[in-house]
Amino acid sequence: MSDLKHTNSNQSVTSAPLLDVGRGNAPLKAEIMELISEIYDSGWFVGGPHVKQLEESVAEATGAKFAVGCASGSDALLVALLTLGIGEGDRVICPSFTFFATASAITRLGAEPVFVDIDPATFNLDIEKVEQAITPKTKAIIPVHLFGQCADMTGIMELAGRYNLKVVEDCAQSIGATHQGQGSGSFGDVGCFSFYPTKNLGGMGDGGMLTTNDQETAERLRLFANHGMKPRYFHQVIGVNSRLDAIQAAILNVKMKHLDSYASRRQQNAANYHRLMKQHGIRDMVSAPSSTDGNDHVWNQFTIRIGGGQRDAVRSQLAEKNVGSEIYYPIPLHQQACFKYLGYGDGSLPVTEQAAKEVLALPIFPELTLAEQEYAVETLAEIIAGSAGVRRAA
Ligand SMILES: *Cc1c(COP(=O)(O)O)cnc(C)c1O
Repeated sequence: MSDLKHTNSNQSVTSAPLLDVGRGNAPLKAEIMELISEIYDSGWFVGGPHVKQLEESVAEATGAKFAVGCASGSDALLVALLTLGIGEGDRVICPSFTFFATASAITRLGAEPVFVDIDPATFNLDIEKVEQAITPKTKAIIPVHLFGQCADMTGIMELAGRYNLKVVEDCAQSIGATHQGQGSGSFGDVGCFSFYPTKNLGGMGDGGMLTTNDQETAERLRLFANHGMKPRYFHQVIGVNSRLDAIQAAILNVKMKHLDSYASRRQQNAANYHRLMKQHGIRDMVSAPSSTDGNDHVWNQFTIRIGGGQRDAVRSQLAEKNVGSEIYYPIPLHQQACFKYLGYGDGSLPVTEQAAKEVLALPIFPELTLAEQEYAVETLAEIIAGSAGVRRAA
């Protein structure tokens, strides 16, 4: 063994998966199966007490007064904008460096997304550029709390107040994250959460949640998510079918009890990465991400940067050594084929475009072991040492 240069504490570890949902789900199996069996017998499959319980606990966890279940995070965004009356001719500001659903909700309603550049350190909306993008047609801002860290909600709420704009928070990656002690999803008019399996509170299928502090908005969100129907077969508004299943809610209720522990394990993993990357002398080289002052980051992703045009080469070498990684997101929305009609040229959002070329997300899920992190960082350090082209990014 003396010829091996491994420094990881468990020398048998030779892989680090990007995500292994099985590890989190396995210990909950008996509890979840019993609930599924109960629901099976009850015959109450859509809405009901499990959904109500989840709504209450999400409201409590986020600090928002009301929460309304829906079918997915994408639907949450759509229902939020629909409820706030966004439509034809309206403009809605959002980042280009986000998942597609942030912007598709806007265009679905006939409104126009206005893509704004990001802060290179946080990957979240750059407040100065948000203000520059506001016009009389602007009706709303959708800040995305990307990778589990809140956008600058102090700045965004100040702008929204000054220009009389609605704020819909995309909290798909940020359940439990706080800014100045306040939970994501409790700042704006509506918060939109996703329970897709890769999120910090991940179900076993699709699911979503809407949050708000305003009772009338809460009632209208519920109305729009259920065909605009109240009472049954009387349609007040033209809504959609976007409801949460009882089985999904029951599974999420079980996981909800562990939400704080999931977040603190992710935070521990982020701290481990910083320590290990420093030890290997690559922490600055890869721009290891940290949380900005006043933010409690919940680390849905740990996104480093690989500069010098070497990101894809580094990624494939990591894959050869069984270290999982992913690129969130390789093509900014303003450069997607479907949004070409909006007319953003290459170079129009330079910080976003550079990020798309450099970002690489490493494994960070709660059950990732220290030995796996050690293996991942050691492997990354070896790859960087062996490839002369890697430059410090950003
Ligand atoms: C996952 C995600 C969504 C969409 O959520 P779904 O539940 O998958 O529809 C929206 N925005 C962001 C930033 C996301 O990460």
